[in-house]
Amino acid sequence: MIVSTQKPFEQILSALEGGERIFIIGCAKCASVCKAGGEEEVFRMQDALAAAGKEVTGTIVIDETCHMLRTARDLRSRKEQVDEADFLLVLSCGAGIQSVAEHSDKKVIAGTDSKFLGNIKRFGQFEQRCSLCGDCRLNDTAGICPVTVCAKGLVNGPCGGMEDGRCEVDAEQTCAWVAIYERLDRQGRLEALDKTTALRDFSHKRHPNNLRLDK
Ligand code: SF4
Ligand code: SF4
Repeated sequence: MIVSTQKPFEQILSALEGGERIFIIGCAKCASVCKAGGEEEVFRMQDALAAAGKEVTGTIVIDETCHMLRTARDLRSRKEQVDEADFLLVLSCGAGIQSVAEHSDKKVIAGTDSKFLGNIKRFGQFEQRCSLCGDCRLNDTAGICPVTVCAKGLVNGPCGGMEDGRCEVDAEQTCAWVAIYERLDRQGRLEALDKTTALRDFSHKRHPNNLRLDK
């Protein structure tokens, strides 16, 4: 899931300057799970904006705000409230914010910061395990991503700074390559480390990004 956090309220208020009537849009999927823009956060935002003197013309929590057709349909279903608003405030990840912007000529305000693709460890705890590099190495690394977990993204074993199994960049962390070694050892597959892996192919990760997947 995409992990996002809500921007500080002062920042949101400042972005809303010049708009007195606001329509708030949340997302029932990722933003809801990470408590950045689910139903509860949308209601809380509504109260906070009212207390700050803004008029909230309406709210909606779209099932998946990144689903462009669904977002267009749901916004149409609230056309009157959307039309009344000066600005649309979106509490979803950046993909959802852009879905809304695509389907409205109103000024769209991002109320969140999108952080990373996260695994849910337990309720309210998320961890980045994959960087969406487009060139997956997990088959060679016992299912531990060196691109993400290694602070330097090294794909051919540890750097010289590893000490006592800890990462030199962040001593709180186990070195990714020690973790890979230990798991391969448990699996009786240490020979996997004899292979030199091709350097990362950055052509798979374009910026500005323009990736598509058509099935
Ligand atoms: S190598 Fe790592 S960052 Fe790249 S796709 Fe695989 S898990 Fe994701
Ligand atoms: S110590 Fe290990 S995890 Fe840290 S940067 Fe070096 S190789 Fe990567």
